[in-house]
Parts: sequence; C-alpha cells; structure tokens
Amino acid sequence: MTATVGIDIGGTKISAGIVDGEGHIVQQARADTPATEPDAIVATASSLVRRLAAHGEFEAVGVACAGMIDAERSMVRFAPNIAWRDAPLRSMLEEQLNVPVVIENDANAAAWGEFLYGPARDVADMALITIGTGVGGGVVFDGELMRGAYGIAGELGHMRVVPGGHLCGCGNRGCWEQYASGSALVRDAREVMRTAPGLARTLNELAGNDPEALEGPHVTKAAKDGDPASIELLSDLGRWIGEGAASIAAIIDPSMFVLGGGVAQAGDLLLEPAVAAFRRNLSGRGYRPEATWALASLGNEAGLIGAAALARREKR
Ligand SMILES: [Zn+2]
Repeated sequence: MTATVGIDIGGTKISAGIVDGEGHIVQQARADTPATEPDAIVATASSLVRRLAAHGEFEAVGVACAGMIDAERSMVRFAPNIAWRDAPLRSMLEEQLNVPVVIENDANAAAWGEFLYGPARDVADMALITIGTGVGGGVVFDGELMRGAYGIAGELGHMRVVPGGHLCGCGNRGCWEQYASGSALVRDAREVMRTAPGLARTLNELAGNDPEALEGPHVTKAAKDGDPASIELLSDLGRWIGEGAASIAAIIDPSMFVLGGGVAQAGDLLLEPAVAAFRRNLSGRGYRPEATWALASLGNEAGLIGAAALARREKR
C-alpha cells in the first residue's frame, strides 16, 4: 500500500509524517505553529510536507486540526486556538502541494487511528475519550467515523453532566470536560493544597508549596508513588469519566471505550475507577453486555496517523 502524509496542526506545534499502510510513521518533521494566521500556518505545513517529500513518495495528505470541520471536510469553520473562521484549508493546501488533501477534526482523526491500529482494531464500534486539558473524543460507529450531518459529531466533552455547573469555554455550563479533564484534576488538586495542606504534603513538595505551580503530571507522579490524596483525586476523575461514558453507552452502545490523552498515562489509577463507575451507572446493568476498556496506544501521534489513514481511504 502506498504511503500518505498526516499533518497534526496543534496550538503550539505542527507535526507532519509519512505514514505507511500499517500505520507506522516512517519519516517525521515538526515546526512551531506560526502565530495564528491561516496563510502562515498553511505555508509552514506545506514546507514540512515538502521536506518529507525528499524522503519518500506519498499520494495524499490528511490533516488533523482542532476545531469544527465542515461536512465536506474542506473547511475549518471555527478553531478555538487559531483565528480561523470558515478557512478553506483543503483548497489552500491542495494549491500548495498538488496532491489530494482531506481535513478532519483532530479528535476524530485520533479515534480513527486508534480504531485502525490501536486497541480497537478488532471491534466495529468504539469511542475514544481523550483526557487532556479538555475532554476530546471521537466515535466509530459500525466501522465508520461518526461525523454527523454537519461534520461536528463526537464532541463528547460538551455533553452536559451538571446542570448549572462550571462555565465551559463553549459557552455552556456543566459540560463533561469541566469535570473529567486534566484541567478539572488540576483545579481540584489545587483546592486540596489550599484547604487541606495536611493531606497535600506530597503535592506541596512537588509544586514548591505553590498551588498555581501544580500541574497534572505532578498528581500522576504522586499517585504512582502512593500518595493517598493524589490517588483519590485520580479516582474522583475516573468516576466522572466512567459516569459520562455510561451516558455515551446509552446512546451509541460501543463495544470498546479507549482512554487516551496525557492524563491517561496514570494508567490503572484512572482506568480502574472509571470502569467501576461505568459499570455502576450503565443503564440496564446486569442485563446487557458491557463494553471493554483499553488505554490508547498511539499517544500524541494518533491524530497524525489517523489523518494519514483517512487520506489514504478518501484519496480522489
Ligand atoms: Zn462545553
């Protein structure tokens, strides 16, 4: 099978790679994301692809991009970190590169990558839940990436779980990502540091007694070292994840949930409480098969690999 190129346009880095038919990155190049102008981003992405072209052939390019992508996969309607409004990214890149280009939401592309080459490669229905700064997600339904009528399906993080709850960047209150994300974990850990210093001794040591200096990996490290407060914080986070997943199961009934994102590096410390809460909250529990859970396996490259695979499938 011929290789394709995947590009992941993030808020700080643009990463591009030649990906073979088995989902392996055979050559990779990275650059900082320049400012926020679409033209500069297209120029940087194009120069990365040209650099890759010196190392091997490819027949199409897939782009994973944070934001809302239209149903035709041609336009970025809106991107939270980049000043794009209705940017015709596909035609801009095709003009530069002279190969077919497909664009996809980054979480959807990551779900497609984990579906083809990760733990979900043997199932037809899966949901990827990415726990990072926010909660991202993507759904594969009956072997197809679920995109919806307008291309914006699978925004799992904006499912409302707490009416009137924390304000979310999307404009609503009580979204799942306000409770199940790495940001929620940090918010809660800082609260423990401020209000219960006796419990937070380890976290205070790691963050130099400054709650504002605390970051998610501190909590994961402390929990792995056996710190009871950090284990409990991850357990609370896992409970939110599992309860939300049970609601997702009520709608799409996947056979596997894949947990990804930086916070998922906590492994079983997060996965076990998530699965336990999922089982407790599953509708009709005890009378239905239960989805299995797995940790994502493609890491930060899931979006790039998934986008390259979408390009291969959709090359025109
Ligand atoms: Zn929201």
